[in-house]
Amino acid sequence: MQKRAAIPCLALPLLALASLPRLDGAPTGYTDTPYLPGGEWRVHDDARPRPPVVRAGVHGGAPSDALVLFDGTDLAQWRSGEGDAGWALLEGAMEVNGTGSIQTRADFGDVQLHLEFATPKVVESNSQGRGNSGVFFLGRYEVQVLDSYENVSYADGQAAALYGQYPPAVNASRPPGEWQTYDILFRAPVFDGEELVSPALATVLHNGVVVHHARELLGATAHKQVAKYSAHPAKGPIQLQDHGNPVRFRNIWLREL
Ligand code: MG
Repeated sequence: MQKRAAIPCLALPLLALASLPRLDGAPTGYTDTPYLPGGEWRVHDDARPRPPVVRAGVHGGAPSDALVLFDGTDLAQWRSGEGDAGWALLEGAMEVNGTGSIQTRADFGDVQLHLEFATPKVVESNSQGRGNSGVFFLGRYEVQVLDSYENVSYADGQAAALYGQYPPAVNASRPPGEWQTYDILFRAPVFDGEELVSPALATVLHNGVVVHHARELLGATAHKQVAKYSAHPAKGPIQLQDHGNPVRFRNIWLREL
């Protein structure tokens, strides 16, 4: 029965292949297939624009169309308050040094962000006092950075939490001192005047593990309070938090979506 059931599944692609145009410069798609919803493009439409080619980065490196925010050489893309960013540069990384949080000079809305971080190798303190930093989108919405390797803290404050709102689905933390990755898709909230039209959405991969999937944020990050939205511009800076621990960052890039 299994073999008989498989026959139609194989036959359909074979029939389709038989009618495919040749690949020697001839069209690679179709002009006689039904239209997809919306009526603009047919199924396999030969006229449909192909996506632009992007050269993928090597080993977490920036793809060719990314905006590199930090490549280990300088802090030109970052500021602290109205001045230059003052974090330490060492060994191809930037390190929190007590000079305050830093933020990008440019503003962004919907983005794909990649960054790598390492919490201090020498473990001091515990809970929220251990390797605390954070990545804030539009300067308001934090994905927590913390040393959560065998370090218990409240769930919505551990590494990769949407701070004060949602714990990560799993704890994918590496040991202190080791480089870890965040790959974050962030969609900015939309306001109509003071009214929220659509909330912020975050998808977060921690060391390649999905820990939030299109999670709706409750509002701007708050401490000991329920987050809520307040209308703000459509774009804002990416901010990295100085929480008093010498956390390191490297290889930071984003693509605007
Ligand atoms: Mg933090």
